Amino acid sequence: MKIVNQIILIILFFPMVFISISQANELANVPALTEGEDKKTSLLHIPPTSMLPINPELLFLMTQLKQTSVKDHKVEIAVAQLTLSKTPLNAAEQYLLLIAQVLLKEKGQLKEKSTNSINNHISNVIALLQEAEQLSDQISEQQLAQPDFLQLHLLLAKHYANQEAYDLAYLEKESYLKKYNVYRKNKRSAMIASLEQSYEVKDKKANNALMESQNKLKIRRVAEVQDEKIVQQYNFTLILITVIAFVLLLFRQLRIRNKLVLLTRTDALTGIANRSTLFEHGQKMITNFAKQPEELSILLLDLDHFKKINDNFGHHVGDEVLILVSGLLKETMRSRDMLSRFGGEEFVALLPFADSNKAKAIAMRINDKIAQYDFSSLVLQTKVTFSIGVATMTDNQMSFDDLLHNADLAMYQAKEQGRNTVVCHQNISEAPS
Ligand code: GH3
Ligand code: MG
Ligand code: MG
Repeated sequence: MKIVNQIILIILFFPMVFISISQANELANVPALTEGEDKKTSLLHIPPTSMLPINPELLFLMTQLKQTSVKDHKVEIAVAQLTLSKTPLNAAEQYLLLIAQVLLKEKGQLKEKSTNSINNHISNVIALLQEAEQLSDQISEQQLAQPDFLQLHLLLAKHYANQEAYDLAYLEKESYLKKYNVYRKNKRSAMIASLEQSYEVKDKKANNALMESQNKLKIRRVAEVQDEKIVQQYNFTLILITVIAFVLLLFRQLRIRNKLVLLTRTDALTGIANRSTLFEHGQKMITNFAKQPEELSILLLDLDHFKKINDNFGHHVGDEVLILVSGLLKETMRSRDMLSRFGGEEFVALLPFADSNKAKAIAMRINDKIAQYDFSSLVLQTKVTFSIGVATMTDNQMSFDDLLHNADLAMYQAKEQGRNTVVCHQNISEAPS
């Protein structure tokens, strides 16, 4: 078994050793990086894009250096303080501080006259400026294009020219101009952006003001519409009330008029037609009879001994009897007949399409009905009876008054015959008077 295991291990070991050796060879064949390439990769520089913060004191110093009124020794002290300051400075600040040192030296140099010292000064200044220029990699292009930073190229150009290194001076001037153009472009863009922003703000404000005024206008319009609506509703209500009042008044007037008409046409106590209505109808019937002769009769009904009822039971009982009697008469009449109160305790009935026999029959039916009625609750042991005179139209020459007169004659005849009876006028006229 051991031998078998050893054989398997050997079989596995050899390929592994082979693979390791071949990998080692491959690695050995890989070309090594040259020193230059390695450096290039490690120095691959990505320029910064953001502006580095600048110490405000340094900024103030830079403005002071531009002014001739500020005393040199004060600026000198400030530059020295910043140079010796323990606060670490970023690349941009170091850059500016070197320019500040150069500007300070430039001011001091104005008093120097000897060529040696001038040459020394130029070399020193160029050295400082070149030192500053080396910091450019750590500063953004935008920041380098700022006027304070741009001074470096102008100063270098000036001193290269002093050294008669015109090519270098030219290149510095060119850099200056390029950066200055970038600066101007950026500034212009910033100004345009700020102008656009302020314009947008103004535009928005104007829009807001417009919307506000439109809203106010809408609110006012809504209020106006509501007011108009209220006024319309008020007017409508007023008109409605006026119309209702007018209609009510009209109905009231009509009711009063109807009442007045009824009063003028009916008897106030019994509610049946009054004397004037009787004459109106009577005349009409006579006129119609003249045009087209039809049977027409009238009854004149007079209560017998009515005075006694008044005397015995009082006038109000007499009224009650009159009301009761008129009701009974109406019940006995045909629908086409017309009953009226002629006056006092006398009634007249107009009976169209009734000859003297029919009229007499109606009159007798009336007397039967009255006789059957029990008046004892009103008048004790007193009979209520009628004497009825019947008159009939005989020719179209007769007037209504003639007819009434005939009926009256017949009624008196009935009284004479002992009352509670019916007499036809034609019977009395036939009989010898
Ligand atoms: P006759 O049988 O002859 O007709 O006798 P009479 O008493 O009925 O007749 P008379 O003419 O003497 O009297 C009629 C009475 O009727 C007199 C009057 O006071 C009464 N009278 C008239 N109108 C009314 C009325 O409206 N109410 C009442 N209660 N009585 C009235
Ligand atoms: Mg009478
Ligand atoms: Mg009477």
